[in-house]
Amino acid sequence: MEKTLSIIKPDAVKKGVIGKIIDRFESNGLRIAAMKKIKLDEKTAGEFYEVHKERPFFGELVEFMTSGPVVVMALEGEGAVLKNRELMGATDPKEAEKGTIRADFAESIDANAVHGSDSLENADREIKFFFSKEEIL
Ligand code: ATP
Ligand code: MG
Repeated sequence: MEKTLSIIKPDAVKKGVIGKIIDRFESNGLRIAAMKKIKLDEKTAGEFYEVHKERPFFGELVEFMTSGPVVVMALEGEGAVLKNRELMGATDPKEAEKGTIRADFAESIDANAVHGSDSLENADREIKFFFSKEEIL
């Protein structure tokens, strides 16, 4: 069954909406196969977002992602990658469709509540980045 990686970002953890966000996944056919709450350090966040290293916002992105704890999950379900992206909404919450996680819980393009893998290939890499085989159940 298809899997994708989700991260509840520091802004949403601080707001106390972990449960509300997880409910969106579980109510829409995405099962939690793995989950942990961690605080990323600069090195780990930088490695995770390596694809964005040359982007102008890379520094801010790493700073934000290390600003507080995050919840990392492997979600499983039919078409999990796309389904998660649909539930998340657009990167910029101002452009996110009504009823999406970002429209409802995010403040700005950097503090945008959640991360989700954008392809099957990246999902595989990102899940392996955070979880061992034994942790995915
Ligand atoms: P994510 O990868 O977090 O799921 P995304 O795939 O919707 O989000 P990307 O283009 O991969 O968006 O950008 C990664 C993250 O970098 C975004 O979630 C956002 O937090 C941040 N980001 C993207 N564009 C900008 C920008 N123009 N200014 C500031 N931060 C940005
Ligand atoms: Mg992305």
